[in-house]
Amino acid sequence: SNESVLDLDYKSSESRNIPHWHNPENESIPIIEGSGATVTDANGDSFLDFVASLYCVNAGHDNKRIIEAITKQLERIPYVSSGKENDARAELASELAAVAPEPLTDVLFSVSGSEANELAIQFARESQDAPKVLTRWQSYHGSTYGAATLTGDPSTRNTVEAHAATTGSGKFLPPLPEVFDAEGSELAEKAANHLEFVVKNEGPDSIAAIMMEPVAGSSGGYPTPSGYFERVREICDKYNILLIADEVITGFGRCGKMFAMQTESVDPDMITFAKGVTGSYIPLGGVLMREELGDRIRDGGTLTGQTFAGHPVACAAGIAAIQEYQNELIENVQSLAPVLQDELTALKEKHDVITDVRGRGFLWGIVVKDPESSEPFANSWVDADSENPVADVAEEAKKNGLLVGVGRPDYQLLISPPLCIEEADIANA
Ligand code: PLP
Repeated sequence: SNESVLDLDYKSSESRNIPHWHNPENESIPIIEGSGATVTDANGDSFLDFVASLYCVNAGHDNKRIIEAITKQLERIPYVSSGKENDARAELASELAAVAPEPLTDVLFSVSGSEANELAIQFARESQDAPKVLTRWQSYHGSTYGAATLTGDPSTRNTVEAHAATTGSGKFLPPLPEVFDAEGSELAEKAANHLEFVVKNEGPDSIAAIMMEPVAGSSGGYPTPSGYFERVREICDKYNILLIADEVITGFGRCGKMFAMQTESVDPDMITFAKGVTGSYIPLGGVLMREELGDRIRDGGTLTGQTFAGHPVACAAGIAAIQEYQNELIENVQSLAPVLQDELTALKEKHDVITDVRGRGFLWGIVVKDPESSEPFANSWVDADSENPVADVAEEAKKNGLLVGVGRPDYQLLISPPLCIEEADIANA
């Protein structure tokens, strides 16, 4: 019954210790202040925010330039209808086109990352006249109806996807060593061959797009092996399928370039973004796309638009944030990413329970195994009653003043510091 599905959702949330504000048992102390990479709670205890809150506070917690840009926009005019031209909105759109991979020139704003992916699904289906969007297992693409069906983790299947059968998404396996029992170029080859097999069996004509995160975020902080994206691009071109990069987490410097696809040698047809675009000071998301896709949408595509899509105050924040990334923050990622990688790799050498440390730039996953069975821990997201030792480690880290993320499946710790973090903080973490 519906009741049991909702019940499962509630229980699984509880098992992950998500402190929903409406949960009467929520006893966590609220965070009330922040500065740089540090946050402070109502008791006056400070924490190093080693996860940029939700992989999103890229420019730190008190960036004066972003705050000033927001204040100025508020004083000039807070809101202009999303159908009308606004200078901040227009300027951010051109800024985005200037910093994105070259072929992506058109931008349409949303409010969040989930809604950016909803738009991408709609544009892809309309322009390709095909229903399906293929995504990877072990992926996260959002929590609204369509975006949640793209998300490849078992809990969304148990809840949302079961109710949204018409969305038409299929899944393929992530290019992970433990999945294909291979590494490097052999892994890239095997994972791409598998994807082509899925495409052929789903029916290429029924597939509008393949969407993936260039480096997976909340589903595990895993990058792709070198050569993988080239093969994916080839498959997309061969079968006339659009390639959509979900850069909601990886965009805006997190992986060492403005967009993570700029660390690959091929371009996608669309990029969806949110989170870091404003440094998370104000909600904003959107889709960057090739001009011909924009044209197809302008020439008779379904009209889309949300009241707060491309809100001028958010756009003003976005312009300032992009400047901050360009001025110094991306450089900081480039120079400190090797330090972060060394520190995490040293952890792996010290602790037998860690089976892998993987990522790129400032986005890393620490994968652990069950010390008794030597297998990855059971997916406690699905089984509300199972142990969740990784969440316990995160809790323990918090007691020691360090905030880290817990991935899905729950056998991974996630590290994604604000881009302004200093070397000493990484060493002390
Ligand atoms: N896509 C990815 C890769 C994400 O990590 C997220 C959120 O964590 C989303 C989409 C959804 O974005 P939002 O939470 O802004 O709706």
